[in-house]
Amino acid sequence: MLDVREVRKSFGQTEVLRGVDLSVRRGEVTCVIGPSGSGKSTLLRCINHLEKVDAGRVEIDGDLVGYRESGGKLRELPDRQVARQRAGIGMVFQDFNLFGHLTVLQNLVEAPIGVLGLPKEEAVARARRELRRVGLEGRENAYPRQLSGGQQQRVAIARALVVEPKLLLFDEPTSALDPELVGEVLAVMHDLARAGQTMVVVTHEIGFAREAADSVVFLDAGEVVETGPPGEVLTNPRHARTQEFLQRTL
Ligand code: ATP
Ligand code: MG
Repeated sequence: MLDVREVRKSFGQTEVLRGVDLSVRRGEVTCVIGPSGSGKSTLLRCINHLEKVDAGRVEIDGDLVGYRESGGKLRELPDRQVARQRAGIGMVFQDFNLFGHLTVLQNLVEAPIGVLGLPKEEAVARARRELRRVGLEGRENAYPRQLSGGQQQRVAIARALVVEPKLLLFDEPTSALDPELVGEVLAVMHDLARAGQTMVVVTHEIGFAREAADSVVFLDAGEVVETGPPGEVLTNPRHARTQEFLQRTL
């Protein structure tokens, strides 16, 4: 359902993505691992067109993200259409990115009302459903600062789910959490994986990747060095760079 082909991205002189390929089938979980600065966040931002690619293409269910093709050339889509595409791609960030001045419920209904144009009652019903799913029923009226980091991240996941995205992207969702709060967030992500949600997860949680991923991608210096099932990439990596990285992280 997701196809990333030969994606290149530079910032100034630095080539951060050097022709990245990545395919994810519907219902599959792909974990992306790699050293700091290898381009993991940039790759996620290119997938949902928060960054424009310099070359290559991103397709979701055969639709180009951010562009349309006309006469063999790529033309940028108008903002409204990009916003609609992006509504199909949920994103969960390391630092939650909740709106601090809005309650949990207000955080959750914003996109369904504002982007999808759902009636308020329907948006609220969906929001309550997703809060139940992440174990936060009854916290609708709390403000983010009244919640623990783990609870805030679960709200952020519920907010991403409420638009029923085809694809969910996670950028180190547990890296900002105190160690004792990591488990509750990973448990929610495990549930989503089991429910068949298509996900791309950038993570340092090798244990999660081992258990939940259908495939693991090792990115280093803007290149996919190795990709395959966790039993291969994490247990018997073929490339020296992957072996070194795993030795340093374990
Ligand atoms: P980390 O594990 O630390 O989150 P990462 O793998 O997510 O790292 P990126 O954030 O994608 O790495 O960054 C890759 C490189 O691109 C880094 O050298 C970073 O400084 C650079 N970079 C990222 N975004 C920008 C930007 N907007 N402008 C300039 N350089 C950038
Ligand atoms: Mg990053």
